[in-house]
Amino acid sequence: MRVSRLMLVTLRDVPADAEIASHQLLLRGGYIRRVTSGIYAYLPLMWRVLSKIKSIVQEEMNAIGALETLLPQLHPAELWQRSGRWQGYTAGEGIMFNLEDRQGRELGLGPTHEEVITTLAGDLLRSYRQLPVTLYQIQSKFRDEIRPRFGLMRSREFIMKDAYSFHANEADLTTTYKAMDKAYKRIFSRCGLETVAVDADSGAIGGAASQEFMVTADAGEDLILTSADGIYAANQEKAVSHPAKATPLPSKESIVLDTPNQKTIETLCSTQGLHPSQVIKVLVMLARIEDGELQPVLVSLRGDQELNEVKLLNALSKELGKMVLDVAPITADQIVSQGIEAWPFGALGPDLDDALLSSAKSWITRFLRLADPSATALENFVCGANRSDQHRIGTNWSKLGGKPKSVDLRKAQAGDCCIHDSSQILEEQRGIEVGHIFQLGRKYSQALEAHFTNDKGTQEPFWMGCYGIGISRLAQAAVEQHHDEAGISWPLAIAPFEVIVVVANLQDEPQQKLAEQLYSELQAAGIDTLLDDRNERAGVKFKDADLIGIPWRIVVGRDATKAEVELVKRSSREVRKLPATQALAELIEEIGVNNH
Ligand code: ATP
Ligand code: MG
Repeated sequence: MRVSRLMLVTLRDVPADAEIASHQLLLRGGYIRRVTSGIYAYLPLMWRVLSKIKSIVQEEMNAIGALETLLPQLHPAELWQRSGRWQGYTAGEGIMFNLEDRQGRELGLGPTHEEVITTLAGDLLRSYRQLPVTLYQIQSKFRDEIRPRFGLMRSREFIMKDAYSFHANEADLTTTYKAMDKAYKRIFSRCGLETVAVDADSGAIGGAASQEFMVTADAGEDLILTSADGIYAANQEKAVSHPAKATPLPSKESIVLDTPNQKTIETLCSTQGLHPSQVIKVLVMLARIEDGELQPVLVSLRGDQELNEVKLLNALSKELGKMVLDVAPITADQIVSQGIEAWPFGALGPDLDDALLSSAKSWITRFLRLADPSATALENFVCGANRSDQHRIGTNWSKLGGKPKSVDLRKAQAGDCCIHDSSQILEEQRGIEVGHIFQLGRKYSQALEAHFTNDKGTQEPFWMGCYGIGISRLAQAAVEQHHDEAGISWPLAIAPFEVIVVVANLQDEPQQKLAEQLYSELQAAGIDTLLDDRNERAGVKFKDADLIGIPWRIVVGRDATKAEVELVKRSSREVRKLPATQALAELIEEIGVNNH
């Protein structure tokens, strides 16, 4: 391809709305253009990168026996109603774009494809003899993200590879899950990415294994916690650890203390000379359930610990036996609009009376009470007295009428001791989630009644797994991991072109001739080559070559008369002067061996 024909428009200045390096560089290098919030055009250079990533993914999926398919992006609401996800995905903070057709039937734009594929599998796969089957597709997904940002990292229309597997039993699901894990590791390493596989949240169904693949980068939205011995790695949403030891309360004497203006753990502790681990912190939250009910929740935590909202959401769904869509702190305004008596915020105790809810207009009138084990383990502690500006010192769970249900709700933090070995300390890193593999179990096959006949002749729902890769996010994550101050430095396997031949002075005939010759010989050798044949100053062309990040550059300049060129390696910026024939031979050797 000739740069003069490439529609290449590069930008010198950093676009104002791009916060992270990879987003800025893709815009500046003419890879992508924003069409509207969270929606981007992939320009020809970008499409080449995406196509290369897609090929690697296809090769590795095919190698483990997965079948490529293509499912519709418009989904009838009815399928999502049957799985019980329509309401949660379309109402409130739901991320599914939805519309009505001319007959008034509701449709959604696919954010993911469990419903469609499970229904198909239920129709097509009738016997255990047809199993296992893994299907995959690569296509655009649609999610009306609450905060689309960072370009392709979190967009509203993006390219995903999603795969789904169907099995006769759990052991077989585990076998495919492990094969996927290996295939994913090969995919990311072939794409030139350094990734960490971390334990991930599996949602409310629990028990099932789930792993995310993270590209480590400071710009990542996820926080991952790892142990130095490399044995433990988890997304903070899921991570477990031992909390630091609590400081025991010196006296067991039980008193009620006036604590004016001591509404936070911090002010209470500094005024009263307490340690936060001696205090029970009480959070009042409101859970929105799939059936529309609103459940007030009272969470007790040890004062030095933070709440993990993902753990809370899962625990609530489990406790209530229904999907909880979201959970958020109850505000004083909400209490007013429920028409109930004001609560003594800043002095709440775990035994806050249900009577406070008795006249609530639209809430369930009983608290669901949960406590983290670090809180229930305290024998003697401090907590709010449920009266404004008063706390109880030296109280215990039996005085409060017993312990609430104990569930892990705390956020693991860097510095905590690891569960597998308490001499190991958790460290934190930021990560970009590029892939996710998940043992779904029978959640969807049960809901959608997708059954097969097992070897005993009876009907049962499939065991299922699902496996995603964010193709467009991965492309940008590669830039986040591979760039410098001059621009992008693509890993060879996913670079839009492998070599760029730059003619320093297009008016100079020997230069032009030699460049054309190298260009055609490289192409003949099967190397993806770009020829910068624009009538621009050499400096402009070098800057653009650095910006767009082609791994190898051959500069044909004054020494063309001696058939000598410069060979520049983009990643190290190493420059060597050598005969054109040698440059050609080296590139064929390098790229031919490593990439084709
Ligand atoms: P996240 O937690 O980042 O919102 P997710 O867990 O909802 O992602 P999955 O449903 O597991 O995402 O989707 C599979 C993959 O698709 C993710 O691992 C990620 O790489 C990619 N992906 C998800 N949402 C987006 C998005 N809005 N833009 C680009 N890629 C995305
Ligand atoms: Mg995920």
